[in-house]
Amino acid sequence: MGNVVVVGAGIAGIQAALDIAGHGIHVHLIEREPSIGGHMAQLDKTFPTNDCSMCILSPKMVDVERHPLITVHTCSEVETIAGEIGNFTVTIKENPRYVDSVLCTGCGDCVEICPVEVYNRFDAGVGVRKAIYKPHAQAVPDIVVKDAEHCIECGLCYDICGPGAILRKDEGKRVTINAASIVITTGYTVFDARNKEQFGHLILPDVITSLELERMINASGPTGGKIKRLSNGAVPKSMVFIQCVGSRDISIDRPYCSCVCCMQAMKNAILIKEKSPDTEITLCYMDIRAYGKGYEEYYERAKAMGIRFLRGMPGEIRADHNGLILQVENSETSEVLVLHPDLVVLSVGIGPSDNAAGIAAKCGISLEATGFFKPAHDAVDTVATLCPGIYVAGTATAPRDIPDSVASGGSAAMRAFIDAVRTRSA
Ligand code: SF4
Ligand code: SF4
Ligand code: SF4
Repeated sequence: MGNVVVVGAGIAGIQAALDIAGHGIHVHLIEREPSIGGHMAQLDKTFPTNDCSMCILSPKMVDVERHPLITVHTCSEVETIAGEIGNFTVTIKENPRYVDSVLCTGCGDCVEICPVEVYNRFDAGVGVRKAIYKPHAQAVPDIVVKDAEHCIECGLCYDICGPGAILRKDEGKRVTINAASIVITTGYTVFDARNKEQFGHLILPDVITSLELERMINASGPTGGKIKRLSNGAVPKSMVFIQCVGSRDISIDRPYCSCVCCMQAMKNAILIKEKSPDTEITLCYMDIRAYGKGYEEYYERAKAMGIRFLRGMPGEIRADHNGLILQVENSETSEVLVLHPDLVVLSVGIGPSDNAAGIAAKCGISLEATGFFKPAHDAVDTVATLCPGIYVAGTATAPRDIPDSVASGGSAAMRAFIDAVRTRSA
């Protein structure tokens, strides 16, 4: 009695877990991926300070792992939630990792010897990973996971693993947790740019998404921090960013603003300009959303660096000789421009997590029409839900940036903490 369950270990869930545990309450942190950290671990820098994302996140991930009052369940999903405030029963399924998490030292010998390479989701497909792999260099827990779907059972990893940590069979297990309250921080999914066919994502190799650019620009990413055209490996001399891809678009039933992509595009454009001042960068937008502390100044800095802000949305991208061609009307001047960029970056929007509907059904709480979790009140009760004892935070409720996600994670933590204390003293 008196524990708290936090579902989702991105930055909001990590913050919530640390805040609750810091007040002496045991937290079970549930994460379906093999490492905690969420999307923030994929980002290169954060706006508007250009701080290294992992330099902020990684110490918090390590604090979570070392905290005596936090039990981390990775590769785990919520199966059932029953009960009420003060006495929830949460059943989770720990999916097979095929690696003994106690014996594995994270040495990486098995990864090196594994002959199978597959699409690397963490690198947004720009790089590859092995069939046995560590999600990324600063993964927590710092151990590997075997991808049974792609493993060909060649046996090489079993032979090389000194501690004998790799399992041929693993059924996973079920764990039942009693909790006074629950915090849901299941995050978001990135819009699949293939749904905007006119932009040719995954058809034209030099059309990439903002997430793919984040991995490319990252010094520990698949290109070692070099921006390349995927068609020929050349450094692009001219780039176009297209904003609002999968956001503010009623034709695909996504009418809302994704909140972060204007600033993210500016941030990446600034980083590219800092490294390669001669790169021509045009940012095609509908409106610029620069609402946060220091954001407007950041926008001014981007303009002062020579990044061109062009108000207008291109209709279609086509291949043209060795590059790309697109046409865009400047809606401020009515001038129609034809651009020939080497590389196009689609600033893809944020959508609800793909497990939001399932978790909402298990908890008996509501979703918005957009698919995000519905808080009790959008203005004055933004982390409570209509089910007492269940709270929502971070991008589970709406697109939001990192500072807002951390703040809402902390806010939900305090509500869940109060429920836990009341349960203990009842
Ligand atoms: Fe090293 Fe074995 Fe763990 Fe692979 S499974 S990282 S070889 S200890
Ligand atoms: Fe890779 Fe599977 Fe062979 Fe191990 S057994 S090295 S995971 S292919
Ligand atoms: Fe469009 Fe900018 Fe809103 Fe993103 S933040 S949806 S790019 S207006």
